[in-house]
Amino acid sequence: MEDISTKVNLLIEKNNLEYCLECGKCSAVCPMPNVYGRYIYESFPRGIIESLLLNPHDISKDAFWDCLTCQECTSYCPAGVTFQNFMTELRELMLDKGYKENAFFCPVCGTYIMPKREFEYIRKTLGEEKAHEYLMSCHKCKKKDYAEKLHRNNPKTKRWENLSQTDNTEHKTPLG
Ligand code: SF4
Ligand code: SF4
Repeated sequence: MEDISTKVNLLIEKNNLEYCLECGKCSAVCPMPNVYGRYIYESFPRGIIESLLLNPHDISKDAFWDCLTCQECTSYCPAGVTFQNFMTELRELMLDKGYKENAFFCPVCGTYIMPKREFEYIRKTLGEEKAHEYLMSCHKCKKKDYAEKLHRNNPKTKRWENLSQTDNTEHKTPLG
């Protein structure tokens, strides 16, 4: 528990959370109410900052998985609170400590992609087919997949393959 508090306090300090002025600008620009159709104080920067300043050891709350890490609040914050960065790092800590039930992982390699709630919203908005194309693997697996496709379709690679096939045939013929 002390380990978690220490790490959370370091993140609080690094991202200037204790300088929050409670001005509410972050809540005004945050897309969460449009996305989830509700306003829940505990899911917004002020609610989360209040909760963690009082109880830095308690990182188990469902509300910590609502933020879309979109950067809007960070851009408008007059106190320099880098909330998007804070949430990204807090979630890394949460996953590290075994709080995984609200997280969506790459089905190919198991890397964390985004919160389940965000994934469900995107899936509903895009439709099943597009969501499958965009979300069913992490960016590393996508890159690997593209790289393999590029390699297969690369004319140079193809020429090389053709040449090596020809070479093989030529070598095989006299031996055969
Ligand atoms: S915009 Fe910044 S200072 Fe204002 S309430 Fe949000 S986090 Fe605090
Ligand atoms: S980073 Fe999170 S809290 Fe900030 S505006 Fe985006 S969704 Fe809202």
